[in-house]
Amino acid sequence: MSEKKIIITIDGWSSCGKSTLAKQLAAKLKYTYIDSGAMYRAITLYFLRNHVDWTDAKAVARALKEIHIEFHYNEQTKSSEILLNGEHVEYLIRELVIAEKVSEVAAIKAVREYAVAQQQLLGAHRAIVMDGRDIGTVVFPNAELKIFMTADNAVRVERRFRELYEKNPNISLEEVKNNLEMRDYIDSHREISPLRKASDAIVLDNTNLFPQEQFQLAYKWAMDKISSTQPS
Ligand code: C5P
Repeated sequence: MSEKKIIITIDGWSSCGKSTLAKQLAAKLKYTYIDSGAMYRAITLYFLRNHVDWTDAKAVARALKEIHIEFHYNEQTKSSEILLNGEHVEYLIRELVIAEKVSEVAAIKAVREYAVAQQQLLGAHRAIVMDGRDIGTVVFPNAELKIFMTADNAVRVERRFRELYEKNPNISLEEVKNNLEMRDYIDSHREISPLRKASDAIVLDNTNLFPQEQFQLAYKWAMDKISSTQPS
């Protein structure tokens, strides 16, 4: 009897370590990992580069027609990377200039419809771990395992600061803190698919957890779900 392939969603506040956990789970289960935030970041990069006025619905609709997003698996880094119209943008989209605008762009209805449709296609064969803000509530409301991640604000700011500082030593803690607070505010207050815990999601607060402890916990939840779900 083949093992049932499930969908695992990981939502939560910015810089909670969602992608770290999602990548670990996907690698262990031999599932595909999809970083939905990377899609919103890549769209933002396209809008900024092409001077798209995202307050203009027609300009947004025209621009979305020109955007093609794919993920490909990098054997060397053992993780999936995003391509924007064929260009590798995995590193570019992590910059603060993108983080400063992405939540505004992600609040646009047409942008969300575009991204959600692609995310649902990517999950059509199940065996997927996807992280984001609305994955358990909107993209895959029937997912078997939903995790909602959280951590103390100061811990999140410190973690993201260390990550960004490695690439850009000019960055300040204050800038990182302001950006996280702004994104969390916009993401949880927007009209369409605001960041919410799905009613059936398990909360994972990792303020005081080492990555390995958090992984063991989530892996057990996943294995419990896989073994209690009948193969289709
Ligand atoms: O996950 P990450 O921090 O890279 O996401 C960047 C931004 O993309 C978030 O702050 C949020 O505005 C948006 N996002 C979203 N819905 C998702 C994933 C990300 O609105 N499912």
